[in-house]
Amino acid sequence: MRLLLLIVAIVAVFLAVRTLVRSTSNRKQVRQDERPERLKEGGAVIRCAFCGVHVPEAEAYRDGDRLYCSPQHAEVDRNRSDADSRTEDD
Ligand SMILES: [Zn+2]
Repeated sequence: MRLLLLIVAIVAVFLAVRTLVRSTSNRKQVRQDERPERLKEGGAVIRCAFCGVHVPEAEAYRDGDRLYCSPQHAEVDRNRSDADSRTEDD
């Protein structure tokens, strides 16, 4: 019975060491898989309705339901669409 316990103990130690070695090599693999694609961190990126440049939603300027990269582009686009609707009225 003591021999059986000894065998079980040896197997347990072997399994523990193997698991440790495996997790260490997994960690190395994860480190290799890390890529510098970190541009999209911190929320969504939207497209300016005027110039099409991509800006983080937090930095975007909202005019109605349209989003712009800057208040200037919001104003220019609004003036342009006003002019369009004016020509349609004539
Ligand atoms: Zn823009």
